[in-house]
Amino acid sequence: MHKTELRIRVFGDSCLRKRAKRIAEVTASHRETLSQMARIMYEHSGIGLAAPQVGLSESMIVVDVGSGLFKMINPRIVKKEGRQALEEGCLSVPGICIKVNRARRVRVKGQDEFGNPLTVDVESLLACVFQHEIDHLRGKMIIDYASFMERLQVSKKLKGLKKRSSHEAMCQPEQKSCQLHL
Ligand code: ZN
Repeated sequence: MHKTELRIRVFGDSCLRKRAKRIAEVTASHRETLSQMARIMYEHSGIGLAAPQVGLSESMIVVDVGSGLFKMINPRIVKKEGRQALEEGCLSVPGICIKVNRARRVRVKGQDEFGNPLTVDVESLLACVFQHEIDHLRGKMIIDYASFMERLQVSKKLKGLKKRSSHEAMCQPEQKSCQLHL
């Protein structure tokens, strides 16, 4: 199978806005992709990464907030509780930080890298990251949560990012004030 090189896609890349395809049968190739995604996430000091962020429109995510690596296929949120709002950054919109209202606790169902059913109950930062990555699988990004005023502030930056992505520039996440890179 031909494999394109995986690299971080930034705002402007159409893959980020597509709904990721459900994976019908988990294969060794998916396990290989998940390992590569984890490597890329660590290389960019990220704490989560979804397949569309590396140009693959498939339902896969990796998450590691420091308490262990999660690799999940076809993840979906089946239960939400409470509320929290953290300042989130995104490897696909470098230099931009948005406060996003999310559930404080979520139950996520999907499959592990071998296709076995997997259910995780997570809260706080981990719950935030799972919700952020599952958003990516639906073509949704943090900028979609921006208020009108935030939108005005980030619109110039987004134009710059679009230019960069069309020039296939390598993404260099700017370590701005935002501490969460997902
Ligand atoms: Zn992201």
